[in-house]
Amino acid sequence: MSTETFEFQVEARQLLQLMIHSVYSNKDVFLRELVSNASDALDKLRLAALRDDTLDADVSDLHIELQIDRDARTLTVRDNGIGMSYDEVGQLIGTIANSGTAEFLRELQEAQDAAGAEGLIGQFGVGFYSGFMVADEVTLLTRRAGERQGTRWTSRGEGTYTLEAVDDAPQGTSVTLHLKPADPDNQLHDYTSVWKIKEIVKRYSDFITWPVRLVGETGDDGEAAGPETLNSMKALWARSREEVSEEEYHELYKHIGHDWREPLETIQLQAEGTFEYQALLFVPSHAPHDLFNQNFRHGLQLYVKRVFIMDDCEALLPSYLRFVKGVVDAQDLSLNVSREILQQDRHIRMMQRRLTKKVLASVKSMMTEDTERYATFWREFGAVLKEGLVTDPDNRDALLAVTSFATTKGDDATVTLRQYVERMPDGQDDIYYITGESRESIDSSPHMEAFRERGVEVLLLTDPVDEVWADAVGEYEGKRLRSVAKGEIDLGAREDDRSEDEREQQAEAYAGLLGWMRERLEEDVKEVRLSTRLTVSPACLVADANDLTPALENMYRAMGQ
Ligand code: ADP
Ligand code: MG
Repeated sequence: MSTETFEFQVEARQLLQLMIHSVYSNKDVFLRELVSNASDALDKLRLAALRDDTLDADVSDLHIELQIDRDARTLTVRDNGIGMSYDEVGQLIGTIANSGTAEFLRELQEAQDAAGAEGLIGQFGVGFYSGFMVADEVTLLTRRAGERQGTRWTSRGEGTYTLEAVDDAPQGTSVTLHLKPADPDNQLHDYTSVWKIKEIVKRYSDFITWPVRLVGETGDDGEAAGPETLNSMKALWARSREEVSEEEYHELYKHIGHDWREPLETIQLQAEGTFEYQALLFVPSHAPHDLFNQNFRHGLQLYVKRVFIMDDCEALLPSYLRFVKGVVDAQDLSLNVSREILQQDRHIRMMQRRLTKKVLASVKSMMTEDTERYATFWREFGAVLKEGLVTDPDNRDALLAVTSFATTKGDDATVTLRQYVERMPDGQDDIYYITGESRESIDSSPHMEAFRERGVEVLLLTDPVDEVWADAVGEYEGKRLRSVAKGEIDLGAREDDRSEDEREQQAEAYAGLLGWMRERLEEDVKEVRLSTRLTVSPACLVADANDLTPALENMYRAMGQ
């Protein structure tokens, strides 16, 4: 079959340019990315073979192989995993599926200088393409397990790649990097050095659950290359926290979370007893851009007795914790367990409850021990966590305890309901809040006038979910949660307030006007009344205590209801 040439998709081309011109200074991570892909491919094959016993694939010795060829100056990363079909290679390697990448590229173009660019690129995964940081040409040879024909992909990273069908490809994938010429001034980047390769694998990929073997000849540094397994394959989640360094945890996070940044928080749980399991959970430091998409995928991997079973395991944590990444390894589940079974399993439900409490407890301790970290957490994940106030009544108190709000008092600091209640002046019985799309829009709302005038603190809620939970929760420690835009609100008398008599007189005086307005606005409003809540604006719209607030109406409309 002939060789076909294709163009990279625009975003892919931009990313490749960045790799080739190496904005990123820590080039070693290319190997982590390739080993991570190989490990994923082995996981996938093992599962596929388990599900389909007619699959014509060899799973007897699943492993990853690294091979240095000194004379040719190549480094090959080989796995005997799931592999890719001809079409898959085009789709997976020729394009960038992750829509966050486009956003990233835009930010990158706005970054003024190289330092800014490096900071940014360090935050985004470039996966397979990172090979172009160290290679001027990359060849990928692959054959999908169960298929006859293999595919060769080649590119110099400059706009085009070629695809070619081949007959004699082994099962799985091998990626061969034609290394850039050695830099005599910088021995650190010599990837034909056996010592160097060993060191990188140890540092970034030690926990990979498949053997990473070094095969072939002697490296440039004269050290003989194995066959030798470089990684310890120890499951970090099964070890005690003292045995594992923070760095090791972070590398595991980067592998399973497909994230290049450090996590915000590492949470470990080892449950013993009749249903034994270990969990290692991570809170990322940034919310993914698609967190509120309908089909956002949960971040937990399920293992059974050290064997990877599935990604995106949504049964292990409630939806409002869908941003949590990590591994849960259960000792007593069947290797054949399916998503459907998990949803109904009693033990899984117990596990979910326990993991949920554990995550909330760690948010709580972040809040008390490290305000800055909590502030980051809340900025990134507050809006999604608040969904739990509606959907998880059992944990409502724990959730309320870690929920905080912008407020009319204090500029940027947020307050908890407890803090709000503690500083409520005598005579104030309710907790006041206002909802809206942005801080600006609610700050200028006429509903706020009387509150501002009297110095009454109002919580400023700007997430769509705020409408829903505030109604669902209703009260906190016996204090009602009240929207300043709903029903009649009596803020109590002020010095210059009118007396009862005066008010009656006023009502009489305005009876005609109000009646006229009522008639004119019959179609649009239920009632027209004199207000005590305004100081500057002549009029405002007030919802009935039981009505949907305007923002909620918008939200339901947006949801198509
Ligand atoms: P990511 O791993 O985050 O998905 P990558 O750029 O590293 O992004 O890889 C893109 C895709 O290419 C992978 O999701 C996978 O489907 C495919 N792929 C990469 N390497 C391999 C491999 N060794 N075996 C099988 N598929 C691979
Ligand atoms: Mg990858």
